[in-house]
Amino acid sequence: MANFYRMRSPIFISILLFVIPAVSSLTESEIPKSLKEVPAAVLNQKEKALGQWIEKQEKQMLKDLEKMVAINTGTLNKEGLDKYRNYLQRELKGLGFTTKTVDGGKVPKFSCEGGEIQFSDHLLAEKAGASQKILLSGHMDTVFNKTHDFQKFIRQGDIIRGPGVLDMKGGILVMLYALKALKNQGELKDAHISIILNSDEEMGSLGSNKLLSDLAKNHDLGLVFEGSSGNRITRTRKGLGQARLVFNGKASHAGSSHHKGVSAVKELAHKVLKIEKLTDYNKGVTVNVGMVQGGEARNTVPPCAEAYVDLRYPKVSLGQKLLKRIKDIGSVVEVKNPETKDEVKTKVWGVLHRPAKEENKKTDEMLKEIFSISKTLGLELRPSHSGGGTDGSIMQAAGLPTVDSLGLIGSGAHSNRELIKVSSLVHRTHLAAIYLRRLIQQKKK
Ligand SMILES: [Zn+2]
Repeated sequence: MANFYRMRSPIFISILLFVIPAVSSLTESEIPKSLKEVPAAVLNQKEKALGQWIEKQEKQMLKDLEKMVAINTGTLNKEGLDKYRNYLQRELKGLGFTTKTVDGGKVPKFSCEGGEIQFSDHLLAEKAGASQKILLSGHMDTVFNKTHDFQKFIRQGDIIRGPGVLDMKGGILVMLYALKALKNQGELKDAHISIILNSDEEMGSLGSNKLLSDLAKNHDLGLVFEGSSGNRITRTRKGLGQARLVFNGKASHAGSSHHKGVSAVKELAHKVLKIEKLTDYNKGVTVNVGMVQGGEARNTVPPCAEAYVDLRYPKVSLGQKLLKRIKDIGSVVEVKNPETKDEVKTKVWGVLHRPAKEENKKTDEMLKEIFSISKTLGLELRPSHSGGGTDGSIMQAAGLPTVDSLGLIGSGAHSNRELIKVSSLVHRTHLAAIYLRRLIQQKKK
């Protein structure tokens, strides 16, 4: 993934794996019956008391969020991620969790430049108890690297702008304060909860993928605190994949010995058009060559070039087919030098890093209860379909029913327009606390 990792320009960052884009409301006929007219939940005294406590914390929550946003945690900022992880580790220890760090994992850069990238450590917090096993997940990293110009936390009335306020430091805040509220009422004692906070989500969780699916297999249900927009909670998601192609040709002087060179950029140009043709809107499949790079100088036949491709698909089988087609395209040589017999060699790497999140009966039951609590708290939720993936897609594909947009309400993720609504802070935290309390009360089977 190479130069991709070098994060050269804002344009470059903007094509990083989009995680909360393209949320679309389901039409009336697409909404399952069970999620249509959900009755408002009746809250007991303890559930109401959670809200009263959370309301009193609002100021402190805002201070904490500002503190979190002040630490830059771009995926490649190890120093920032270490600092943020230490902060969260202290918070979770304070709540009675046993915590440990897990090696961030390595992936090859797969580029002209070569080499590999080492991700920062992930944080795992665990607490055993008599309840069913609940897995909470969030990511510490953001798409904004240290040199990006979007770094400030700014409040204007009901709106706060800042890197990660929505995606997803605000969500981690919701999770922490829901747990704090439960602890305050002495209701964490029976909880069996694991919390995974990874450091590489914005690059597709390439280093934490296995950790996430292993954890998912050992739990009964999962909650992810990614942000959401308006009154929508994502129910299904497209799958995401990525492919990287590296073309190796032969450098030569563009004037005196042009005929001796083999152009890697020319090979890339042939391949880009073929790969782009794999898009099929009717099947819900898109293939986007999001970034290309190649060559050394205007007057040199380019010895190397690379392309980075994004894939979206509604079903895993379609994703696998796409990867195979890209590998097939890569295997056919287009640019050869008849004189020297040299030709361009193409290497292809690809992965379906977030499987499609398909309909799931158990997840719909979880959504129904969440909708019903939210209705009582004053906001009617609607299910939606998203073209982007989250770690919830990995968790659910590993067999864990997972609801994944329980963080704050806002918009503009992955751009300098990222913002949250302050008014969603207490609401979302109260919702999470009540739902977690209900989950904790269901004992282990
Ligand atoms: Zn996110």
